[in-house]
Amino acid sequence: MISWRRGTKRTLLGLGHYKRRLRAKPFSGVAVLCYHAVRPDDWPADRMAFEGLHVRAAELEAHCRVLASMCHPISLARWRAALDGGPPLPDRAVLVTFDDGYRTVATVAHAILKRYGIPFSVFVCSAPVEERTYFWFDAVALRDGELEVQRLKQAPFEEWSTAAKAARRSVPENDPHAPLTVGEIRELARLGVELGGHTASHPILARADRAEQRREILRNHTALEAWAGRPVTAFAYPNGERSDYSDETVSILGELGYSAAFTTQPAFASGDRRFECPRFLMLAGVSDAELAHRLCYSWRR
Ligand SMILES: [Zn+2]
Repeated sequence: MISWRRGTKRTLLGLGHYKRRLRAKPFSGVAVLCYHAVRPDDWPADRMAFEGLHVRAAELEAHCRVLASMCHPISLARWRAALDGGPPLPDRAVLVTFDDGYRTVATVAHAILKRYGIPFSVFVCSAPVEERTYFWFDAVALRDGELEVQRLKQAPFEEWSTAAKAARRSVPENDPHAPLTVGEIRELARLGVELGGHTASHPILARADRAEQRREILRNHTALEAWAGRPVTAFAYPNGERSDYSDETVSILGELGYSAAFTTQPAFASGDRRFECPRFLMLAGVSDAELAHRLCYSWRR
């Protein structure tokens, strides 16, 4: 059944059906795509923590072909300008984002996106960048399994903090789990990639008290602005579901000069709730035909 559906979607893509359909019916907002990282095609399978978050380079390339030929990729700056009364956005606007700040965004994804003229933003956790360590969830998953990560996401803040510190270890620079370097972040910023906040160490903010939330968000904000050399005004909530952040989080973001924040709640983003802009999570295994199908049908417009 699944292969029949896959075959049908591929046929529909080949016949130009999705392209015609997308032209006929506008999006109800911006399609914001939430990627995490991009795995080199020659990296062996089943070696990584949360492998589904690392799309293959060939998959990203296939997505880019769909986005560049059927939609209108925009930058976060262009969207912000439109929301502030500037030139309106084109039909079928798509914004590509990456969460966490994996090194493969610079070493693999950037060249692919550039080839298709697709702008993107990166929401970076700063502590692993400074310390050259694995993100806590990868360190825990590689040592204790992914279920332990899911358990710790629900745990009280102190328990999470102790466990994350205990799991901290340095990461080889050629490991696809490695975070961006400061040099790469500076270079991405210089090339016009907009950097956004994602906390220092990726806690579930809703489990932390106000002071701890503020420390995490401020430390990250200060580091990113120093690296980017410009104001950092967009944020993505770690994990991104409604239960992962609180009204306090939103108020702290406002205090620190943020003007927009992104969730992982799947919907087109109209821009009417700037601190809860929804995004569609992009995982490995999504073909070009599947992405086109989602843009047309699966993602409710
Ligand atoms: Zn994240």
